[in-house]
Parts: sequence; structure tokens; C-alpha cells
Amino acid sequence: MKLIGLTGGIGTGKTTVANMLRERGWVVYSSDETAREIMTTNDEVREEIAELLGPEVLVEGGLNREKIAELVFGETQEHADRLEALDRIVHPRVLERHMEQIEEHEEAGTAIVVIESALLFEVGLEEGFDWVVVVDAPNDLRMERVQARSGLTDQQVQARMKEQLPMPEKRAMADFVVENGGSLEDLERSVHKIATILEALPDPEAAD
Ligand code: ATP
Repeated sequence: MKLIGLTGGIGTGKTTVANMLRERGWVVYSSDETAREIMTTNDEVREEIAELLGPEVLVEGGLNREKIAELVFGETQEHADRLEALDRIVHPRVLERHMEQIEEHEEAGTAIVVIESALLFEVGLEEGFDWVVVVDAPNDLRMERVQARSGLTDQQVQARMKEQLPMPEKRAMADFVVENGGSLEDLERSVHKIATILEALPDPEAAD
């Protein structure tokens, strides 16, 4: 099975690329979606998060993500400490879930599995993948796209960017870079090109 990591900074277009690959028929798991699922369904995790950030972050059937973002993304050491503690609760469980998903697909004989994760390099996950694809876009476009989608302020987006490894470092570690500075049609073409190459490359496991 070919295991591919898909990453990039906030607003570069990871989710859009992930969806294009899903449409192509590839199996794609998103760390963000998996984290969201764990944070809403796992009572132990919900209790740990409420203990860390206060009971007001719990809402019926889920978590108040805006409130959580306010508490963990910011300038102060307190914000940084909370983010680190939250990551310590959520990340290992997300990783565990991804390992299960990968194992299930290995057994089922799936050809390609993609894990989309904003923090792939930051959590040292890249070694586990056969290839890593990084999505990038000019900073002003990233800012514009994120703001159009979320209504976050410049400062809030910058606070999130600051938590991520700089894009030049991510690009240097990538096997493929998808440039998302153009239209959605341009993106579709780039994704098609890279996906065609990845489909044609030999499966590393089947090499011997
Ligand atoms: P985040 O890290 O915030 O989850 P992301 O990297 O997953 O962001 P997307 O959610 O895919 O990024 O894209 C951000 C926004 O920009 C979305 O609303 C998406 O529809 C839009 N977008 C992405 N690529 C393009 C493009 N080439 N042209 C126009 N809009 C785009």
C-alpha cells in the first residue's frame, strides 16, 4: 500500500486538495476531522479538555471550538501552555486512530491511503510516509481565503501561522509541492498531475 502524507500551512488548500483526491476515488483521512470526531465522541477526552480549559468549552454533543481557539491561540505563555496541553490530550489519540485506519486498509488491500494533517512535520510524522505532498500558496491569498471562510482577524490567522513550521522548511521536506496560487481549475490540474505520477510509481512495499 502506498501511504501518502498531505500537509501545508493554514489556508494553503489542503482540505480542497484532499477533497479532489477523494473525488478521484482515493482514501483520504483528515487529522482535523479525526480530532474533531474524537473531541466530540470520546467522553474521557471531553472530560480532560474541560478540566484543562474549563467546563464552558463543552457544549451539547460537541465542543465550543471558537472558545477553545481563543484560549489556545494567542500571544501569551498561557496560550502556548494550553495549546501544548491540549495537543498532549488529542494528538496521541488521533495518531492511534490513523494507525488503526492504515492497518485496516493494509489488510483490505487498498492501493493508496492519504493522511491529511496540518501538523505532519511538527509532530514528526513524515518518516512514516512513502511520499509527502505539501500544498502552498502566497501568504496574502492564504490570509484572504481563511478570512473569507472563517471571519478570523489578521491577528488570529497570524497567531495560527506562528504555531506552524515556516512554509520554506515544509517545502524543503516535501517530495511534491502543489502550488495553489491560481484558480480552482489550476489546482485541479496540478492535483491530477501529481496523482497520476503517484499512481504510476511502484509501491515501495512491493519492490522486492
Ligand atoms: P486550514 O488549514 O485552515 O484548514 P486548508 O489548508 O485546509 O486550510 P482549504 O480549506 O482547502 O485550506 O482552503 C481555504 C479556503 O480557500 C477554502 O474556503 C477553499 O474553498 C478556498 N480555496 C482553496 N483553494 C482555492 C483556489 N485555488 N481558488 C479559490 N479558492 C480556494
